[in-house]
Amino acid sequence: MSDPAVRLRGLRKSFGAVDAVTGVDLDIADGEFFAMLGPSGSGKTTVLRMIAGFESPTSGTVELGGVDVTRLAPFERDVNTVFQDYALFPHMSVVDNVEYGLRVKRVPRAERRERALSALASVRLEGMERRRPAQLSGGQRQRVALARALVNRPRVLLLDEPLGALDLKLREEMQVELKSIQREVGITFLFVTHDQEEALTMSDRVAVFDRGRIEQVGTPAEIYEQPASAFVAGFVGTSNLISGEAARTVLGKEGTFSVRPEKLRVADLGDEVGDTEHSATGTIGEVVYAGPTTRFLVDLDAGGRLIALQQNLQVSSMDVMSLRGTRVRLVWNRRHEFAIVP
Ligand code: ATP
Repeated sequence: MSDPAVRLRGLRKSFGAVDAVTGVDLDIADGEFFAMLGPSGSGKTTVLRMIAGFESPTSGTVELGGVDVTRLAPFERDVNTVFQDYALFPHMSVVDNVEYGLRVKRVPRAERRERALSALASVRLEGMERRRPAQLSGGQRQRVALARALVNRPRVLLLDEPLGALDLKLREEMQVELKSIQREVGITFLFVTHDQEEALTMSDRVAVFDRGRIEQVGTPAEIYEQPASAFVAGFVGTSNLISGEAARTVLGKEGTFSVRPEKLRVADLGDEVGDTEHSATGTIGEVVYAGPTTRFLVDLDAGGRLIALQQNLQVSSMDVMSLRGTRVRLVWNRRHEFAIVP
């Protein structure tokens, strides 16, 4: 087994009275695309900054490729960071921006140029070498920032909200693009985001942060389909919890359970329920029509409310809007219901 690209052990950071990071243990494999996901203030940026070396831990260690770098300066670590604001030099051309780091390291001119052009090709910016940052779109500037980091061929690339400055459509395009660039260059990407969709779309694995620590680490499907806690269930998607009296009546068991909205079928009260299914009766309280899908907010007879997401295969908005107040039966396969720690 080779050493992980990044290994964190007992990592803590306090700023005066604020405990920003309260004990993080994590291994990130070579070549992984890894997301640190969590709400504002949950400590993910501080972890990223400790890996980069901009912040030194109150306690704990940071290893890169099996080497303890906890006490090393940022430039002594085999990592590069892409910042949200890109931090490009406005007076320099694209290719000069990308070459800058190599110039500082006194890499010979010819090699510098060759590596910069190859980095620009890997982010698909051929032909833009002579432009200034101001002559580029937001997405193109983002790629220049990426090329500027990739040109150093770091073992690990750290990305702080890499797509945060882009509008929604461009962000969706760049999610696919970033993933394919990462696959081509084969470098470990570690990025911070508070956008759950971004984390699920791009990553091989996700760590969900809450209040300075990791709540759950797993593949996007594990995080989404089998959230380990009420926090994860609520932060990554819609939580849809069944607990207390509803759990006893509907499921015949004690505890708190989660079923994702798209796993619920909205059926008629009298519809049959299979052996492998559970169901709950209730009344549609709200209908939210959203083009391709509709969300039904159903108040259960047993207490609580579940959201059911249905594709609009046949219906139009007029059809679904008139369903408010209708008595229905929500049906789901038992294997889609998960016990969670409240
Ligand atoms: P965001 O998504 O808003 O960047 P985050 O999850 O990345 O949030 P951090 O930036 O790591 O969170 O911050 C964690 C906590 O540490 C917050 O309460 C923040 O206010 C605090 N904090 C971060 N940096 C400092 C600092 N230099 N001095 C004092 N407190 C800090």
